[in-house]
Formats: sequence, structure tokens, C-alpha cells
Amino acid sequence: MLKGKLAIVTGSTSGIGLGIARRLAGAGADILLNGFGDPGEIERLRTGLEGEFGIRAAYSGADMSKPDQVKGMVEEALGRFGRVDVLVNNAGIQHTAPVEDFPGDKWEAILSINLSAAFYAIQAALPAMKRQGWGRVINIASAHGLVASANKSAYVAAKHGLVGLTKVVALETAATPVTCNAICPGWVLTPLVQKQIEALAAKDGTSVEAAQAKLLTEKQPAPSFTTPEQLGEVALFLCSDGAANIRGASLSVDGGWTAQ
Ligand code: NAD
Repeated sequence: MLKGKLAIVTGSTSGIGLGIARRLAGAGADILLNGFGDPGEIERLRTGLEGEFGIRAAYSGADMSKPDQVKGMVEEALGRFGRVDVLVNNAGIQHTAPVEDFPGDKWEAILSINLSAAFYAIQAALPAMKRQGWGRVINIASAHGLVASANKSAYVAAKHGLVGLTKVVALETAATPVTCNAICPGWVLTPLVQKQIEALAAKDGTSVEAAQAKLLTEKQPAPSFTTPEQLGEVALFLCSDGAANIRGASLSVDGGWTAQ
């Protein structure tokens, strides 16, 4: 379905981004991986995608907190592949603290990586998508793009902002073959969430297993994690012809979290 197309997936060295990159590669897309990690492990991921799916995969180490590097990543994709067809804005970080104690540097980092990076990447990629006559922008927001939780001021603000940005870009591209949508996951067991589980276990003085069960069921009716593979399927659906007129939507994949 995506043979000959190029997908940039930010934050794809781990978790949800990696699950999405793998699924798009499985559908034939060439992939520009991005994110941090051990260089040897990242190279293993890159060559692994090429070997497993017979596609071309490249890697950009661009730091999504730096606008120039975000733009440089898109330019690198255009330089190496001559096109950008799918842009998945997925890179994200978390920090939890009450608003009075929330460190300013964490606020700035979360806003820049979880929200502003998507703005700069979209700005850089849209002209090529319009020129090519096809494009998909997929923003990985969160249930926290739709509802709030205590102690997550920066994350909730950034994800609500990302849902808003998604709607604006969808309106501005509504008369073109480029679409822009958000996916809003509930809990996915990735390193980002593992840290929260461990913090909860330490705070409550319970086992990691007990903390995991508590975190999972506190807000989410379905007592199971969504998987990166499932989110890969949702992203691939948004790339299909069936999704060509889904515009500005926030697709909840959250175990019923925001149905309440
Ligand atoms: P993760 O920690 O497994 O992966 C985050 C990725 O982002 C990694 O590849 C990391 O290297 C990359 N990254 C972090 N800072 C970066 C930077 N400055 N520049 C470039 N890359 C950077 O986390 P995840 O759970 O897979 O999260 C991916 C996205 O999904 C995030 O936007 C997160 O907010 C969102 N999300 C996660 C969950 C969940 O339950 N895990 C739920 C809803 C939304």
C-alpha cells in the first residue's frame, strides 16, 4: 500500500513510534527513523527494518526540542529520498509534579518536544506533500489531549495543543489530498509509562506489579494495555484510501478512558 512512499516517524527508536515505523515498513514504506538511544542498537533497528521488510530505512538523530534540527530532519528526508509522504509526530516525554512545583525547564522541554516539534515538522513537510499530491500527517496525542489528570500540567497542555494544531492543519489542507489527524492512546506499556509505574510503586510502597494494576485501572475501564502494534494498525488505516476524508479527527484508542 505504501510502496515508494517515505514515512518520517519521530521518536521511533522505542515504544509506540517503533511499532508504527514497523507497521508502515511492513506496508512497503521507506522509513526515516528518529529518536535517541544507543547508536549500535539504533543501527540494528535500521538494518533490521531493511532486512525484514525489503525497504530503505535511514536514521536522523535530530533533537525534537530544537526547531532547526526538526526542520533539518525533514530536509534530510527530502534530500535522501526526494519525498515525504507520511509524517508521524510521535516523539514525546513526560514529567509529573503539582503545578506549583513543576520545574520550568521540564515545562519548556515538554512543550517543545510534544507540541512545537510537530508544528515545525508539519511546516517543513506540507509543501512537499502538496506538491506530490498526497500526504498524511498523523499526530500521536493522548487521552490527555482530550481530558486531564492531576500533576501533568505540561503534558496535558501540550497534548491538548497538539489536538488543536491537528484541527487547524486539517482545515488548512481540507481542499487537498493531504490529511491531518491525531491518535489519542490510553495506556501503552513503554519506557515512558514504565517510569510512572515505578514511581507509583515507590510512592505507595507496593510491588511494581501492584502499581501497574493500579495505574492501569485508575482511569481506563479496559484493564489492558494498548500495544504499539495496534497503534501501528491505526496509523496504517489513516494512510489508506478509506481514511482519505477523515480530517482533523482525534481517534481514541484508550480502552474507554474518554468514553466516561
Ligand atoms: P518512549 O519513551 O518509549 O518513546 C519516546 C521516543 O521519543 C523515543 O524514541 C525517544 O528517543 C524519543 N525522544 C524523546 N525525546 C526526544 C527528542 N528530544 N528528540 C527526538 N526524539 C526524542 O515513549 P512512548 O510511550 O512510545 O511515547 C510515544 C508518544 O506516545 C509520546 O508522544 C507519548 O506522549 C505518546 N503517548 C504514550 C502513551 C503511553 O501510554 N505510553 C499514551 C498516550 C500517548
